[in-house]
Amino acid sequence: MKAVQYREIGGRPEVVEVEDPQPGPGQVLLDVTAAGLCHSDEYVMGLPEEEYVYGLPLTLGHEGAGTVAALGEGVTGVEVGDSVVVYGPWGCGRCVRCSAGQENYCERAAELGIAPPGLGAPGAMAERMLVDDARHLVPIGDLDPVAAAPLTDAGLTPYHAIKRSLPKLGAGSTAVVIGVGGLGHVAVQILSALSGARVVALDIGDDKLELARRVGAAEALKSSPEAVEPVKEMTRGRGADVVLDFVGAQATLDLAPQLVRVGGDLTVVGITAGAPTLKVGFGTVPYEVSTLVPYWGSRDELVEVVELAQRGQISVHTERFSLDEAPEAYRRLHEGSLTGRGVVVP
Ligand code: NAD
Ligand code: ZN
Ligand code: ZN
Repeated sequence: MKAVQYREIGGRPEVVEVEDPQPGPGQVLLDVTAAGLCHSDEYVMGLPEEEYVYGLPLTLGHEGAGTVAALGEGVTGVEVGDSVVVYGPWGCGRCVRCSAGQENYCERAAELGIAPPGLGAPGAMAERMLVDDARHLVPIGDLDPVAAAPLTDAGLTPYHAIKRSLPKLGAGSTAVVIGVGGLGHVAVQILSALSGARVVALDIGDDKLELARRVGAAEALKSSPEAVEPVKEMTRGRGADVVLDFVGAQATLDLAPQLVRVGGDLTVVGITAGAPTLKVGFGTVPYEVSTLVPYWGSRDELVEVVELAQRGQISVHTERFSLDEAPEAYRRLHEGSLTGRGVVVP
C-alpha cells in the first residue's frame, strides 16, 4: 500500500510503497478515509537528530479517520464497516490517568514503548492503518470523515484547553485566540459554542483573520504589540479573561501576558522550535494569572467534540489533497499558505 513517510532527518515527506499491515490480537485495521496535517508534524520534521525520538521511517498522520476493515483476534465492540475517528494519544489503558480517560498523560506509555500513530507508531497518512485497541476508536456515524479526522487533534486539543477555563468565560467575558490555523479556527468555534465569551482572534495572515471572522470571531486583529491597546479598550482596560496561544513563538509568548487580565488564564498550546520561553514572575504577568501548557486531550473529550460536530456547533474548514499530493500539502503547511486544516484523502 501507499504511505507518506518522513524517512531521514532533515528530509521532506515522501510517498512510498510499504507492506500491507495485518491486525494482530486486539488490533483493528482501518481503511483510512482521511488524515489531517498538523503543524506538529512540521515541528517533528524540523528536529535535529539528537532531539528526534519518533523512529525512522515514520509514517505520518496523527489525525485519522477510517472504516473498520478487519478485526484482530479477540476484538469486540466495533464491527467491520464502522466509520470511526482515531483517538491519538495512546496510553496503557490501566494507570490512574488512563483510567480517567486521560491517556494523553499516561504514566507508563514511555516505559512500555507506546507511541501515538504518526508520532512513533505508523500513522494515518496511508491507505490502511493499525489501531492498537478498539477503545481508541470513536464512531462518527454519517459525519464526513474529511471534516471529522481533524476533530481528533485540531478539535480535541483546543477543546481540552478551553474546558479548564470555562469558569472564567461567562457572559461579558473576552477570550483571545492567537494563531487561527487548524487548531485556532476550531478554538474560535468551541468558545462560541461553550461559553459566553466574545472572541478576539489574532494572526499574521489576512486569510486567517478572514476565516476567524467567518467562524465567529467578533474581532480579528493583526498579531503584534499594537493589538494590546484595542484588546484593553474592548475590556474596559482589564485585558482578556482567557488568552490561548496556538503559536508558542517568542513573539506570542511575549505578547500574551500583555493581553490577559489580573486573575485570568494564559494557556500555551503552540509548539515552536528553539525553546521559546514564557516569562512568569512578579511583574512579568498580571497578578494571579494561571498558566498552563496542555497536551492533546482525553478520550471522553473526543467523544464530546464529535458530538459538537454532529450537532453542527463546530465544523472544520478543510483543504483536500490526495495521498500523492501529500508532499505538496506539507510544503503548503510549511510556507503557511493553508487555511483551516489540510487533509489527505487516500
Ligand atoms: P497551523 O499552521 O494550522 O496554524 C498556525 C497559525 O498561526 C497560522 O494561522 C499562522 O498564520 C499563525 N501564526 C504564525 N505565527 C504567528 C504569530 N507570530 N502571531 C500570530 N499568529 C501566528 O498550526 P496548527 O496545526 O493549528 O498548530 C498550532 C500549534 O499548536 C502548532 O505549534 C502545533 O505544533 C501546536 N500543537 C500543539 C498541541 C498540544 O497538544 N499542545 C497539539 C496540536 C498542535
Ligand atoms: Zn497535532
Ligand atoms: Zn496509562
